This record gives sequence, C-alpha cells and structure tokens, in this order.
Amino acid sequence: MKLNKNFKNLADDYLFAEVAKRVDDYKAAFPTADVISLGIGDATLPLSLKVVDAAKSAATDLGVKSGFRGYGPYDGYPFLKNAIIDYYTLRGVSIESDEVFVTDGAKNGIGNILDLFDVDNTVMIQDPVYPAYVDANVIAGHKIVFADATRENGFVAMPPKRGKADIIYLCSPNNPTGTAYTLAQLKEWVDYALDVGAVIIYDAAYEAYVESKDAARSIFQVTGARDCAVEVCSFSKMAGFTGVRCGWTVIPMGSPLNRLWYRRQAIKFNGTSYVVQRMAESALRGGYEDTKKMVAEYKNNAKIITKKFDELGIEYTGGVDAPYIWFDCGVDSWKFFDHLLKKTRLVCTPGSGFGINGNGWVRLTSFNSKERTEEAIKRFEPFWREFIAVRDKLFERV
Ligand code: PLP
Repeated sequence: MKLNKNFKNLADDYLFAEVAKRVDDYKAAFPTADVISLGIGDATLPLSLKVVDAAKSAATDLGVKSGFRGYGPYDGYPFLKNAIIDYYTLRGVSIESDEVFVTDGAKNGIGNILDLFDVDNTVMIQDPVYPAYVDANVIAGHKIVFADATRENGFVAMPPKRGKADIIYLCSPNNPTGTAYTLAQLKEWVDYALDVGAVIIYDAAYEAYVESKDAARSIFQVTGARDCAVEVCSFSKMAGFTGVRCGWTVIPMGSPLNRLWYRRQAIKFNGTSYVVQRMAESALRGGYEDTKKMVAEYKNNAKIITKKFDELGIEYTGGVDAPYIWFDCGVDSWKFFDHLLKKTRLVCTPGSGFGINGNGWVRLTSFNSKERTEEAIKRFEPFWREFIAVRDKLFERV
C-alpha cells in the first residue's frame, strides 16, 4: 500500500486551529472574560420555519408507502433543479436541467471536480482566498500559480499579462476580502480563459450577498462563460445550510466536463438526501422571503462594522457584497490578532492565513448577532484610536 504522498505537501491546518488554540489559552487565563468572535465563518441564525416545515413534510412522505423514496437521481430531483434554474432566470441566466448537479455543498464541487483532470495541469488561484482550493490541488498534485490580490488592485485579482494556466479558481464575492468581480472584470477572466484554453471553476458561494449593480451574481452572466466555466454554489451562507449540507454545480452541456462529472457523481456520490433537497427547494420557493431576510440580517451586521470603519478612516474592502470585511491593520496579522484579543477580548481572523498577500490585513465576519456585533464595535473604537497612536512605537510595520 502506497499513500498519496501529496498529503505531505499540505500546509498544516494552521489558521483556524491556531485561532482556536490562542482563544482557548486566553479563556483559560481569563475564565470570566467576555470574548466576542468576529471570526465566525459559519451561519448562526436558525433556519427559516418554512424550510423546517419542508423537512418535516418530506420526512412524512418517506414514512408512507406512496411517498417513500430510495436512491434519488445522482444529479438531484427535478423539483430542486427547476427551483435552481428559476433562481438563475432571475439573474437573466438561462440554464438547462442537464447542466445542474445538486450536491451536498460547494466544497463537493470545488474539490471533487479535480477527479476529472489529469495531474499534468497548472492551476491558478487568487491570493488571498479560501484555503480549500490550494489544499484540494495540493492533494491532486497540481502545479499551483497565484493571481495576486493586493492593496494596489483593490484586492481584485486580474488575469496575468503573460503566463498560462489550465484550471483557474475564482471566488466572487471573495472570502476573505469581500470583493466581488464586476461583470466587466469577469469578462476579462473569461476572455483570458478562452484565449489560453483554461477552465474557470467559479465559486459563487456568497452570490446572495451581492448588492452592487455592476457586480456579478453568476459567471454565466458573462458572454463566453458557457465555453470555459463551471460554477459551484451553496445554500450554506444563503439559507443557513452549513449543517444541513446542500449546494449545486452548473456545467454547460457543451463542455466535456458535463458528462464526466455525471459519471463521477454516479460512481462516487449517491446524491443529496430527499429531505435536504425539499428543504433547499423551500429556501428558493416558499421560504425565499426568509432566505432574503437572513442574508439582509447578516449584511446589516456588516454595515454596523463598515460604518464605524468609515468614521475611523480604516482602509478596508468588502462588507457591501459579502459577509466579510477585510481591513488594513498595518502590522503582522498574528501580532494584531494577539493585541486585539488582549486589549478588547475580540477575535478576528489573521489575513496571512489566506495567502501571503494577506499579511498586514485582517478578516472580520458579520455572522455574529446584531447585539454582539454592536458590542464588539463599541469595544473596537477606543482600541483602534489607541492602537493607531502607539502602532509605530510598538510594532514593526508591514
Ligand atoms: N466556498 C467558499 C468561498 C466558502 O467560504 C465556503 C465556506 O466557508 C465554501 C465554499 C463551503 O461551502 P459549503 O458549505 O457549501 O461546502
């Protein structure tokens, strides 16, 4: 038996484990401290009661002879695929039923789709970004190159002038920077992919948060995308399904990836459960108003944070089209993390954990409650004023 030696090339699962460890150490030293996390990357609001009713009624279906279902279609039940197709129609995007694959979440598409590619592929990934793309490609043994997102380009990575990639991962709205591609920027990526013969794997897990008029909700809003792109999406942050597990992948019929993905899912994935698919259908149909309300509530928390940042003159991206706010702390991200925790009992996520371009930056999320977000920002304001006054004396700038 020979192990996949690529696992040895994975970076340690450092970021969230290290955040948890430092918070645990702090709590052990100060057991009564009221720690607030603005680092939460998980949904916290309860499910819509309409979605819960859909689960109950689906479970009831399964308990009677006429409603019982065994294995479902590998690519999802038509009732959910149709709801997803109608959701795309709202954005002016037309997709066919054979192009939609219901999954158990966006991670399913992000990582498992690599089964379809030869090892001899170069993958381009934004830096900073959600770490799963790099890790999945390290395991697959792919060569990885990066598209830089920095202060200079407003943390919006664009195609390189030279150089080629075969597989391109794009995350928009981006975790952690909260930036969303405009349709014009995305068109540049589509043109680049068509030019070099690459496929774009477009992660739209946060598309429900987009409000800027010119920002993309789907890569398929861009001309040419059907000839080079695959889209993965999720109910996780849109409807609080992080624990329920449901998402989808769209692969145009013209792509050779479409039938390969069907085979792959048929061989390795027996489909998402009927109950969960009924819940997901409800999140897009009868419970859609609740879905929108949930997103609006998280977005309101983001506004509480960005309003204060505007007052304090803090340089940041995000918060408008995403549940993430990405700000410039100007010092080593981990040193800032420790200092913030010690002085305010607030937890953030150090930007350096998302890629080398993230050092000196910090991610905050809007997944805490309104009350806790308000309390956090109340603590943050005096902290920041003092931090700015002493920053150059106490820390090395990055
Ligand atoms: N894509 C991005 C950009 C994410 O931030 C996350 C989760 O945080 C996921 C995908 C995972 O989504 P899912 O829960 O649908 O697997």
